[in-house]
Amino acid sequence: MNQNSWIESANGHPEFPLQNLPLGIFSAGGGARTSGIAIGEYVLDLEGVLNSGLLDNEAETAVLATRGGSLHKYFDLGRIHRVALRNQVMALLTEGSEHAEVVALHLRPMEQCEIHLPSKISDYTDFYVGIEHAVNVGKLFRPDNPLLPNYKYVPIGYHGRASTIRPSGVDVIRPVGQTLAPGSSVPAVGPTDRLDFELELGVWIGTGNGLGQPIPISSARDHIAGYCLLNDWSARDIQAWEYQPLGPFLSKSFHTTISPWIITAEALEPFRCRVPARPDGDPAPLDYLSDNQDQAQGLFDIQLEVLITTEAMRKSELPPHRLSLSNTQVMYWTPAQMVTHHAVNGCQLQPGDLLGSGTLSGPHPSQYGSLLELTKGGKEPIALPSGEHRYFLEDGDEVIMRARCVREGHESIGFGECKAKVVAQIQGLGNC
Ligand code: MN
Repeated sequence: MNQNSWIESANGHPEFPLQNLPLGIFSAGGGARTSGIAIGEYVLDLEGVLNSGLLDNEAETAVLATRGGSLHKYFDLGRIHRVALRNQVMALLTEGSEHAEVVALHLRPMEQCEIHLPSKISDYTDFYVGIEHAVNVGKLFRPDNPLLPNYKYVPIGYHGRASTIRPSGVDVIRPVGQTLAPGSSVPAVGPTDRLDFELELGVWIGTGNGLGQPIPISSARDHIAGYCLLNDWSARDIQAWEYQPLGPFLSKSFHTTISPWIITAEALEPFRCRVPARPDGDPAPLDYLSDNQDQAQGLFDIQLEVLITTEAMRKSELPPHRLSLSNTQVMYWTPAQMVTHHAVNGCQLQPGDLLGSGTLSGPHPSQYGSLLELTKGGKEPIALPSGEHRYFLEDGDEVIMRARCVREGHESIGFGECKAKVVAQIQGLGNC
């Protein structure tokens, strides 16, 4: 169904056509933070639409729950309210809507809007469901034993840092930490030399669960409010020294970037796909992680792209250079399995919790989702169109991630950019 909008820039828009309608929090002209929906080149101010009397019932309740500049109360309302809001806004924006003139008063040019974090983030957990990445990284650390035996039974994750998650566009300050130089027996402290990105899918939790109340796999999907792109910035030298025995700590917690629009399950519905059969010899998921519907349509076909620009490239007006083109279909575990496993011990998930998928690398080197993999552990540099080369990120480098869903017979949708620039540590170590 390829219906059009009366907003011309929405029709055929690569990211935000009528079929997408992602929710976010924005401000315009220094005003207060308020909720909006991205449509073409505009943000639709939902408070304005509500005040014009154009929303009712669950859609009205949904917008009222976004007041205060955070979507976490809206997340808590769950699917019925989310769908009601989507359907009513879609009707208002569809070609032929009798309310077009009034709705048009509440459109703000997106270029004049600042897009903020969509919600207070209660907790952030990063998984490791990209099996190619797990194998590639495992090989660097343990050539003989790349994949640990738990991987095919447990959706592995670690508890990340929620306070340092920022929306697209906020600079990343090069972190300082302890590293052990090769051949050295005593660590030194200083700015990381091995700053990296990780290409990930973000999963927003909608309704939570009570303490001690697991989430069955058959209803896990109902607890997901939507999706975003996530860049799990990583300092590989700090990580290598600190990661045993308890996993990543300061090598990851300095900054995480997300695309700020919430892409809903309803917008992604046409792009669902089957979980591929596991290779011969792999165990079936344990019962609590097995569900026929989830196996039949629990993954998405989302193209994921990573690009880079350096200061020299921008000076020479060179376009961003593609480092990777991957897809969410490489996930070994589905978002529903991540949710169910997270809560199997009775852990309480809350509205506005954020889950990262882990780096989503494909099997081919052009699909690798981190520099650690692209440069084979910092051994083989990447050549850039400016004549520069990179092992890891340098100050001034900007990493841009994009996600796009394309399927015959459906309007394509995108996630909006997840980008940020690396800047030098300003204070210097002596002041910290
Ligand atoms: Mn990660």
